[in-house]
Amino acid sequence: MTGSAELDAIVVGWVDVGESDRILRLLSAEEGRVALSARRVRGSSRMAGLFELGAAVRVQRARGRGGHWVLRSAERLGGPRRAREDLERIALLGYGCELCAALAPEAAAAEKLHGLLLAWLDLLEAPAAIGPTARPALEAKALTFAGLMPAITRCAACGEALEEPVVFDPEAGGALHARCGGGAPVRLGGLRALEVARRTPLAEGAGLPPLDLPRWLLGGFVTWQLGRPLQSRALLEALG
Ligand SMILES: [Zn+2]
Repeated sequence: MTGSAELDAIVVGWVDVGESDRILRLLSAEEGRVALSARRVRGSSRMAGLFELGAAVRVQRARGRGGHWVLRSAERLGGPRRAREDLERIALLGYGCELCAALAPEAAAAEKLHGLLLAWLDLLEAPAAIGPTARPALEAKALTFAGLMPAITRCAACGEALEEPVVFDPEAGGALHARCGGGAPVRLGGLRALEVARRTPLAEGAGLPPLDLPRWLLGGFVTWQLGRPLQSRALLEALG
């Protein structure tokens, strides 16, 4: 049993339990994914700020039965404003929260994924338009920090530098020469641009041109890694 009573974290979701309770899901730098039982909170306006995706909170907690964390009190430190007023930003906010949390460990440090989500939330608060490469860049960084980034610069099968024609196969570990295996055809130029986006800080990469790649290349890889789709992807897909 580790962890102190006080924790600063980002709200990444919650689940209703029974009539009035909720399980609050957080992402923190120190402890990765954290779940907290929050009792008698539904309908409580005092706690409303706690149940907003992307809100920064400071919680006080205690161990309950079975060692699960129980929420004692909480303070809202900040949260989305601009990202609450625009449907595309709302969708991107939900996706970023779910993505970073899904790839983070439970009860283990996740400083980079936590920092990435903070940078993503900052980007969504900035006045600049969110370019089409922002989400793939986020996916690439999140996969990298989780140690799961697929091969995009060298062949996943033979390890040599990629050259056309290139295919992508999650099961094979990413991109590969068409001669080295099967998969969906992808453009080498698109993969190279994705590698640039992966290495560019989110705030600087917002204006990168669209990638010449399937829209959900990395999103699909995340689904394959997790064995389930991210729920928040549906809204982004609906928005086109
Ligand atoms: Zn090869």
